[in-house]
Amino acid sequence: KERHQTDLNTLIEEFLRLSYYGVKAKDPKFSLTIEKDLDPEVENLTLQVEDMAQVLINLFNNAFYALQKRMSEADPNYEPKLVVTTKNSANRVVIRVRDNGPGIPQDIRAKIFKPFFTTKPLGEGTGLGLSISWEIITQGHQGELKVQSEEGAFTEFTIVLPKRLKPA
Ligand code: ADP
Ligand code: MG
Repeated sequence: KERHQTDLNTLIEEFLRLSYYGVKAKDPKFSLTIEKDLDPEVENLTLQVEDMAQVLINLFNNAFYALQKRMSEADPNYEPKLVVTTKNSANRVVIRVRDNGPGIPQDIRAKIFKPFFTTKPLGEGTGLGLSISWEIITQGHQGELKVQSEEGAFTEFTIVLPKRLKPA
C-alpha cells in the first residue's frame, strides 16, 4: 500500500471536524467540549493516509456515539467531553482519544477488537470499525492500539506509531 509523508496533527484536525459535522448533521443539539492537545513537535510521518483517516474517523465516531449515549441518560450535571492528544517522543508518536462516556464494561473489553462485535442496535454499527483499525495500526503501521476504560467514567484509545518502520 502507498505511504505518504503526512502531517498527523492536521490529519487529526481535519477528520475530527468531519466526524463532528457528521454527528451534528444528525443531531443539531449535540454539543460538547472538545479539547485538543496536539504536540507541535510531532513531525511528518510516513503513513497509509486513507487507512489512518479511517482509524481516526472510527475512534471519533465511537467516542461521539458514547457521549450521546450517556447524554441520553439526562444527568443534569453531565458535561460531555472529548480529549484528543498527540505526543512526540524519540522513536514514536502517541495519539490518544478519550471520552467521558459510559465506558466499556470489563467483560466486553476483550471482545471489542473482534470483527462484527458490536453493542449497537442493528443498522447503527457493523462491529468492524475497531477490528479494521487494529489491523491498520498493527499490521499496516507496525504500531499498537490499546484501550483503557472505566465504567461510568471514561474510555481512552491509545495508538502508538513507530517513526521508523522495521524492514519487512
Ligand atoms: P461499532 O462502532 O460498529 O459497534 P467498533 O468496532 O467500532 O464497532 O466498536 C465495537 C464496540 O466497542 C462498540 O459497539 C462498543 O460496544 C465498544 N466501544 C467502542 N468505542 C467505544 C467508546 N468510546 N465508548 C464505549 N464503548 C465503545
Ligand atoms: Mg465504530
